[in-house]
Amino acid sequence: MVSIPDYTRILFFSFGGLLLFGLIFIPMERTFPAYPNQNIIRPRWRTDLLFYLGQNLFWSWLVLWILGQFGTWLQALVPISFQRTIQEQNYFLQVTEVVILSDLLIYWAHRWQHSWSFLWRFHKTHHTAEHLDWLAAYREHPLDTVFTVGVINLPAFCLGFPLETLAGFIAFRGLWAVYIHSNVSLPIGPLKWVIGSPELHHWHHVKERNCGNYANLSPLMDLLFGTHVAPGHFPDELGVNGEGPKSYWYYLIEPFLPKRK
Ligand SMILES: [Zn+2]
Ligand SMILES: [Zn+2]
Repeated sequence: MVSIPDYTRILFFSFGGLLLFGLIFIPMERTFPAYPNQNIIRPRWRTDLLFYLGQNLFWSWLVLWILGQFGTWLQALVPISFQRTIQEQNYFLQVTEVVILSDLLIYWAHRWQHSWSFLWRFHKTHHTAEHLDWLAAYREHPLDTVFTVGVINLPAFCLGFPLETLAGFIAFRGLWAVYIHSNVSLPIGPLKWVIGSPELHHWHHVKERNCGNYANLSPLMDLLFGTHVAPGHFPDELGVNGEGPKSYWYYLIEPFLPKRK
């Protein structure tokens, strides 16, 4: 059963996380900047701070609560004998399987978020950021986050992977998502063929909707399915064509408004 901590702990985790990420990523962004002219205090940082607070103080816990309500029912979809086989494997095998399964699922789900107009309405919010850094990683419409978190975790949860395996993996994925949005350029040599990077994900944020680099932990799925984009430098312009800056609250309601002509 998934339990929600009390609100004092949620406040502690949220503000503690903000402080911790700031302490990790601000020195990295100053030491290895991909865009040396981009300041730490850059345009629209307040909007992204509100996205961070919204996600960490409210939306993530709502998703966890919903999962708690349906968890037992969801796990009953898969035979208990199969779940036991999964749980009896050693930890590293479990982690490897979760990484491959979730990367495959999120790769196709992410392509779908770009190609299907209904999902793009919500996913577009994430792409409106014109300056990426560690804080911009949190610019996501809450329903887009629910979709992504569900695709990444629900199948593994239903198959019976233990919560301890999933919790470590979810924490790592969260940290990785922040890293690939950061204004950091770290050369990783031949590892670039197996490990994702800020450079690859910045190419995912160029103004074309059909931009490539849909996976994030590893570029293997993009290499396999022909969507890998790696010109060898960071792109000049990021954002969405024809989109100007909007407030946090407008971003929340925008997907529900009638389409602009
Ligand atoms: Zn995207
Ligand atoms: Zn992104």
